[in-house]
Amino acid sequence: MQIDTYLKEYQPVIYKTFVNALNTKKLSHAYLLSGSVGMPLKDVALFLAKSLICDHPNPLACNECITCIRVDESNYPDLMVFDGENAKIKKGDIEKITSNFDKTALEEKGIMIYVLHLVETMTPIAVNSLLKFLEEPGKNIFAFLTTENESKILPTIISRTQVLRFKEIDRSKVLKDAENMGVLPENAEILSGFYNDANTIKEIAESKEFETAKQCLNDQLNSLLISPDDAVFSSQRFIVPALKQQSTAKLYIKMLTEIFKELLNLSVNESITLKSYDNILHELLKHVTHIDKTLIVLMSSIKKLDYNVNICLLLDHIIYSITKEGK
Ligand SMILES: [Zn+2]
Repeated sequence: MQIDTYLKEYQPVIYKTFVNALNTKKLSHAYLLSGSVGMPLKDVALFLAKSLICDHPNPLACNECITCIRVDESNYPDLMVFDGENAKIKKGDIEKITSNFDKTALEEKGIMIYVLHLVETMTPIAVNSLLKFLEEPGKNIFAFLTTENESKILPTIISRTQVLRFKEIDRSKVLKDAENMGVLPENAEILSGFYNDANTIKEIAESKEFETAKQCLNDQLNSLLISPDDAVFSSQRFIVPALKQQSTAKLYIKMLTEIFKELLNLSVNESITLKSYDNILHELLKHVTHIDKTLIVLMSSIKKLDYNVNICLLLDHIIYSITKEGK
């Protein structure tokens, strides 16, 4: 799905706000795009940035002109992008922006833009440099910041930006859209538990990482049906070695969390979302106890992964929590 269609269809308030700002030439110097995990925040930030410099805006970026194409190819020097997804945004990065934007623009449009994706990952010293820069914005300098966790952003940053908050999309709509895009129902069902965007779900569902995590999940669930000892053995022998990468381990734990959420739902007789897992969920309910305690362990494990804990120990802890009272 194209980003302009996404904005129009899913985020109409942001769409109208930004189009109106462009039409009336009342743009803010800094925007903060605030949403939840899995929303296309970076893509939207780049698209809005592109709309300021597109050769044929209507009024948003056309995606076809030479400028739009150069931005897509990261080949437009007056647009700088720093991505906090895989590495923290550091002071040096902010210094690159300030020193670059101290000079005049290289492109004839004279507009300079920087995109900082996931500002919550910035080091405190980088935040300080950014604040100084936000306090005295140059006339033709624009910023697009994004965050998946607005509560972690300093109020001083929020007050210097116009916040565009993304709306959570109804899970059933995300699920339906993902299935229409060709994602298998069983994959769409489980991924829609923690990704609020059909495009993201499609991308993840097609990744090697997901294939590994799903295989591990199936192995673990099936072994739980045999016996607690078998589940521990399966975890140590097959699952732990397969989940060495932090991101794959996180995906696995999130999926396991969805299973336990559904077990909790089932145990209190509510309807379930994971319809493809109906059989195994009913079977599991006969084999696992203390579902609520396990859920707490799983949810705290997801947080711990952000602090570079030992993945093996974490996975061991999870399987012992699930099986200990079964013994
Ligand atoms: Zn264009």
